Amino acid sequence: MSAENNKEACNKAANQSINWSELYKKAQQVSERAYAPYSHFKVGAALLSEQGQVFTGCNVENASYGLTVCAERNCIATAVAQGTTQVSALVVYTAQQQLTSPCGACRQVIAEFMSPDAMVSLVNHLGDTQQWRVADLLPAAFTPQNLKNSTDNSSVNNSNS
Ligand SMILES: [Zn+2]
Repeated sequence: MSAENNKEACNKAANQSINWSELYKKAQQVSERAYAPYSHFKVGAALLSEQGQVFTGCNVENASYGLTVCAERNCIATAVAQGTTQVSALVVYTAQQQLTSPCGACRQVIAEFMSPDAMVSLVNHLGDTQQWRVADLLPAAFTPQNLKNSTDNSSVNNSNS
């Protein structure tokens, strides 16, 4: 993606109106569907696509603990399955006094589909919120740009720009 295209994409995202309260509500609702029989730590995520669609996801645990998938990644995977690869905003909801921020694995996946200036908002049942820029959640992220900058990019055909 050229600098000019990148600027355009940022402007587009900045001009898109984000209905945070709708995203909070959707994230709260889907958190009730979380499959968390082991941790009892229910998480809901909701995102707004660049096309203006809202997608949701919850955490899904497994008796083989390591196979657990977080709400954020399930939410993004659901969006991708519906044709979205540009996410404008993401909300993470937990009914926890302390706001829950995305784990390291989720931060990497978020960086794949959100611009560095896009916002991730944490919210809880008390209505407390905290917003993070993607670039602040994962500084110096490894992104598709790194692969494009490779001296041998003949094997990279997955271009989004
Ligand atoms: Zn995670």
